[in-house]
Amino acid sequence: MHDYVIVGAGAAGCVLAARLSADPAVSVLLLEAGPHTDDERVRDPNRWAELAGSRYDWAYWTEPQHRLSGQPMQWPRGRMIGGSTAMNAMVYLRGMPGPYGYWAQMAGDDWAYPALRPFFELVEAGPDHDGVGLRMTRRDDSHPWCEAFVAAAKELGFGFNADLDRNGSAGVGYYTVTRTEDGRQGAADGYLAPAASRPNLTIAPQSCARSLDVAGDHATGVRYISADGVERTARASRELIIAAGVIGSAHLLLLSGIGPAQTLRRHGIPVRIDLPGVGRNLHDHLAVSVRFPSANPDPVRTGSGLADAGLFAGSAGHDESDMHLWLAPTPGADDESFTVAVGITRPLSRGLLTLASRDAGDAPLLQPSYLASDKDLGILVAGLRLITEIAGTHAIQALRKDPQARALSSDTRSLERFVRANASTQFHPVGTCRMGCDELAVVDPELRVRGLENVRVVDASVIPSITTGGTQGPTYAIAEKAAVLIGKT
Ligand SMILES: Cc1cc2nc3c(=O)[nH]c(=O)nc-3n(C[C@H](O)[C@H](O)[C@H](O)COP(=O)(O)OP(=O)(O)OC[C@H]3O[C@@H](n4cnc5c(N)ncnc54)[C@H](O)[C@@H]3O)c2cc1C
Repeated sequence: MHDYVIVGAGAAGCVLAARLSADPAVSVLLLEAGPHTDDERVRDPNRWAELAGSRYDWAYWTEPQHRLSGQPMQWPRGRMIGGSTAMNAMVYLRGMPGPYGYWAQMAGDDWAYPALRPFFELVEAGPDHDGVGLRMTRRDDSHPWCEAFVAAAKELGFGFNADLDRNGSAGVGYYTVTRTEDGRQGAADGYLAPAASRPNLTIAPQSCARSLDVAGDHATGVRYISADGVERTARASRELIIAAGVIGSAHLLLLSGIGPAQTLRRHGIPVRIDLPGVGRNLHDHLAVSVRFPSANPDPVRTGSGLADAGLFAGSAGHDESDMHLWLAPTPGADDESFTVAVGITRPLSRGLLTLASRDAGDAPLLQPSYLASDKDLGILVAGLRLITEIAGTHAIQALRKDPQARALSSDTRSLERFVRANASTQFHPVGTCRMGCDELAVVDPELRVRGLENVRVVDASVIPSITTGGTQGPTYAIAEKAAVLIGKT
């Protein structure tokens, strides 16, 4: 029996394991479905894209996307110690304050941006006296093609934003990335490794949780298949914390009989708590990119994991930035072209995660319903128009093989078709165990599963409305805040 059992060693799980085990009087068990790894593709910040489809990926696919090409979309999620932070593109952004206003509407002022700021500052402060904390790098010596992107944005009149990571509201600037000279800084490196030798912390890789045992308003344990293939039950005297990520956490609740009663009954799962919101509110950043043949091969092929600089801009009539653009120098193995991409910062489309079957080995059905809102389509069309303008700047024309060629048609219908044929995930799904106080909330403002006294969900699944940048920064901040909430209990 441990004081705390944490399921999932990703961004949130590693923070919690490190913070809770800092008290030597408390014992913590961390269960992780995937292995520990020092695979070179994880270490090397430029090889993250190679991990999709590998043994370190849950390798999910969405349901067919009828408003896009009609095809399912690949959704990588890290399955290893470090979770998705061991395979992500490392861009660190707090995002604009706007969405946090919605968090506060749903869950109270403790989740408003001013209340969260100290936790972001904690994430950004770097290692503490025990060495626990992330090391980050501000990319101000950038890939020459990203420099051209910054120059292009300035040519078009966008201001330079020297604090894009903390104040990503508008303008062009350099990214902060969770890496050092030595390579990637995921949650496993920054949070878990410095705490791993503590005698009160047990880390169990290759231990996949299958369901919670629930009696009344308490979970009595979590059943998991351990590394030796045996089913075991872990018990927590204080709390069980689910940090299995946007897909794993909702899936685990559903398999445990916590979710919409109708769905559970349909799959023959006894209903423990009828929580209709489990799996709802699934949403993600959608992006589309345009490829340009370059005049010269990439001058520094290994210089960039994705992009070094980003631009936040508003589409026509919008003061608030609803578009995030970047230039990626080396997409795939091709070093003779670059892409300019645009993503929607605050998508309105909402989807659903639900069970495919009651078998824990079957992946859940993932329906993000991309472009369910026409407004999302309109923003990406506006983004493609801005990409055309960017492609016409002196700075970008100098990079292009065919500088005079028009990048895209100006006709709205053709641009819509381009979006539908080419848009893809930015790898930021959130929201399936949304926090709040209403009937559809899955966890309360203290992140307790509604109806259970001793279970919390702490990860990207509790996010009510996606933030405007990547989701690792907000997830780290949520976990830092949760560690304080749990410590107070
Ligand atoms: C390819 C890719 C690129 C990305 N790029 C960026 C980026 O550049 N910037 C950014 O901000 N964000 C990025 N993200 C998103 C970011 O990494 C995630 O939002 C963040 O890691 C979410 O943290 P989490 O704790 O919710 O989940 P995760 O980090 O995914 O961790 C969940 C953990 O739980 C484990 N787990 C799941 N189910 C079980 C179970 N049943 N039993 C035991 N363990 C389980 C998983 O194996 C995993 O280790 C990217 C993600 C991907 C996949």
